[in-house]
Amino acid sequence: MATYSHSKIGTFETCPLKYKFKYVDRTPTEDFESVEAFLGSRVHETLEKLYDLVRNGRIPDEQFILDYYEKQWTTNWSDAVRIVKPDLTADDYRATGRTCIERYYRHYHPFNQGLAVALEMQVPITLDDDGQYKMTGFIDRVDKMSDGVFEIHDYKTNQTPPSQEEKDQDRQLALYEIGLRDYFGEVRQVELVWHYVRADLEIRSRRTGQELEELRAKMIAKIQEIEAATVTKNFPACESRLCNWCEYRPLCPIWKHLYAIEEQAAQPTPLPDDGPALVNQLASLAIKRKELQTQADDVKAQMEQVEAAIIEFAKQHDYQRIFGADRQATVKHVTELKVPTKTNQLDEYEQMLALLRQSPLWLELTDFSSAKLKDMLGKPEGKVLRDLLGALVKQEEEWRVSLRKRKDEE
Ligand code: SF4
Repeated sequence: MATYSHSKIGTFETCPLKYKFKYVDRTPTEDFESVEAFLGSRVHETLEKLYDLVRNGRIPDEQFILDYYEKQWTTNWSDAVRIVKPDLTADDYRATGRTCIERYYRHYHPFNQGLAVALEMQVPITLDDDGQYKMTGFIDRVDKMSDGVFEIHDYKTNQTPPSQEEKDQDRQLALYEIGLRDYFGEVRQVELVWHYVRADLEIRSRRTGQELEELRAKMIAKIQEIEAATVTKNFPACESRLCNWCEYRPLCPIWKHLYAIEEQAAQPTPLPDDGPALVNQLASLAIKRKELQTQADDVKAQMEQVEAAIIEFAKQHDYQRIFGADRQATVKHVTELKVPTKTNQLDEYEQMLALLRQSPLWLELTDFSSAKLKDMLGKPEGKVLRDLLGALVKQEEEWRVSLRKRKDEE
């Protein structure tokens, strides 16, 4: 079975299709790196350099380490680095990274909080006793403290730091703790430490033995889910704001038509593409339908007003029928039984059904409908049902107008 990493599993959770592109098909992509990832890598390299010097007995001054950062930025920058946010430039990101380093340096100087025993350490993580479910991870820094506690340090360049509660549930460093404990053997206590370097914020958390066992079980279940998806080839696309940073966008069925349009637009003789015209046609029909619906609603409201006027006119003159040029309106005063309906009075409707089910007449109401019930209630034998339903059945009076072709002209 394949070896998993936390980010590999995270990719599946975020978008199974991206997982398929990246880890199943290993689809080559255009050389692409988001500027956020680029900035993160430069900050990581600089802090690695800093601690590498410290553990070799040299505390570099701040300017040295900032110069190192600037050099790494310049050396590694390429056209493959992509900036998605339109209001920001490469220099803005570069300055952000520099500020992160300055803040970190001033916060932790002279870097003697612990003994850095490992930098960028790769740890194997075995989740089960048989060694079937394996993961691997890279720890930014492992410190051994004077009281024997090991600290797993992780640098984050995200804009907004998460809450303490979120970090107490975080899986990544807890998985690294599992690997670290196996790697070093006798480890009394491990502390997980995140450095949110943009905000100059440190978040700490610890895990109990039971929490680590539960995490092992959860990750095994997650790996089993991925393996099952691989067998059934079930990798649906899952759209999110992360699509903006996805290197597989031009291949993804959700977005690739956009790229096809752009590509054709750049051709001297673009190939025909029915897609935009069809979508535009559908959109204008949807607008037209909405306009007609609004007009229909207006006409309905006007008809109700005219019907009310006809009823009033009929009452005044004691007419039951009023004649127009080629149509006649018949006005009736009706008394009708009303029962609760599923749409308008769900609670009363369910109460009514419960009562009806107790009645011997329920069998006669097979394929129940309000119309059928009202029909039974209107018959003399329906009295049993009327008594049973009590206040749930209402007798309502109303005036109605019906319009048809003049009878005297037929
Ligand atoms: S563009 Fe979005 S939906 Fe498509 S593969 Fe990438 S993350 Fe998934």
